[in-house]
Amino acid sequence: MLLERLEQAAAERTARGLTRRRRTAHTACAPHQAVSDGQGGARSLLSFCSNDYLGLANHPAVVDAFAEGARRYGAGSGASHLVNGHSLAHNQLEAELARWLAPCIPEARALYFCTGYMANLAVLSALGTADTTLFCDKLNHASLIDGALLARADVRRYPHRNTAALARQLAASDSLLKLIVTDGVFSMDGDIAPLAELLALAEHHDAWIVVDDAHGFGVLGERGHGVLEHLRLASERFIYIGTLGKAAGVAGAFVAAHTTIVEHLVNVARPYIYTTAAPPAAAQALLTSLALITGEEGHQRRAQLAQSIAQLRAGLQTLQAGHPQAGWQLADSATPIQPLIVGGNAAALALSEALDGDGIRVAAIRPPTVPEGTARLRITLSAAHGAADIARLLDSLGALAAQWEAA
Ligand SMILES: *Cc1c(COP(=O)(O)O)cnc(C)c1O
Repeated sequence: MLLERLEQAAAERTARGLTRRRRTAHTACAPHQAVSDGQGGARSLLSFCSNDYLGLANHPAVVDAFAEGARRYGAGSGASHLVNGHSLAHNQLEAELARWLAPCIPEARALYFCTGYMANLAVLSALGTADTTLFCDKLNHASLIDGALLARADVRRYPHRNTAALARQLAASDSLLKLIVTDGVFSMDGDIAPLAELLALAEHHDAWIVVDDAHGFGVLGERGHGVLEHLRLASERFIYIGTLGKAAGVAGAFVAAHTTIVEHLVNVARPYIYTTAAPPAAAQALLTSLALITGEEGHQRRAQLAQSIAQLRAGLQTLQAGHPQAGWQLADSATPIQPLIVGGNAAALALSEALDGDGIRVAAIRPPTVPEGTARLRITLSAAHGAADIARLLDSLGALAAQWEAA
């Protein structure tokens, strides 16, 4: 019965162009990567789908720090943080992260998690008590949606970035505790949350703001400290989540918030308490990542990334103007997430597969990850891409757009 039911669900997924499959990499995360060819060998792909925005995932200094951390602390932590899995490397990482966020969050303390998914579950389940309302942007990441499901709080959703609608919801609420919950940079659209307006609303309605900056940390801000630094905002009302497997190139995540909030998470957040601490070696590697992000090399990598974003956008705009019948739409994004909205699931998948035929990997993102009818190619850029890589993507897309129009 179970297997028949699942087989039927699989057949329906296939019919709707929604089947997902994995690719197996044979080499490190990089724009040019060898992946399994399905026949026991490997082939090289140029990819535009990793979140390794600064190209640190395979940076020699970060890899060395990981190895050094493993020699010093071993491969695994052996237990949860509250038992005996918490190490000096974890402490040093948290201290450095707290220092980064302190200008934006007075009395900030930071807490390291194994993943961003777990950090989001932890924050929303620990703070979202029964007398709380969570006000969530409709395009929030799945992990925030799941965190809201785990919370005992009331959940309201407001239209994407619509502060007027949010203001009405806040005014109508008589909850004791109000938490506004938003991505910092939206993961499927690349646009930035209107955090200055959200902060003004939070102050007016005595609410708090949970910001998930998975795609802003390391990328945005003068020193790469994220969306709050970028927008020059400061308030103790911010509960900031940064992830460390994307721009920081390693793994894990952190929550930075007023020390009283973080102490509460340590004591009650089940996704923090009931899991084995991440390997201390990861924390050791992250200390090196952070030094790179905030130093001269980070500046250069962010400048390189900005140049690539400009090159890609200019190329896509030309392409869109030259092939209006293709019906592709470039989203309004200033970040390394550059979606090209195609519409139908089958079309997005066909485009992604055609690029694959050219040796280029761009993910087709389909519902339920994005709303129905907005299937897209989600192009992500890294500081490790060169101008020639981007030109090659634009050439392939140009040829496909011409075919698309003719069809
Ligand atoms: C990737 C992502 C997460 C999850 O972080 P992981 O460390 O990969 O678990 C959370 N929020 C957003 C917006 C993300 O893009």
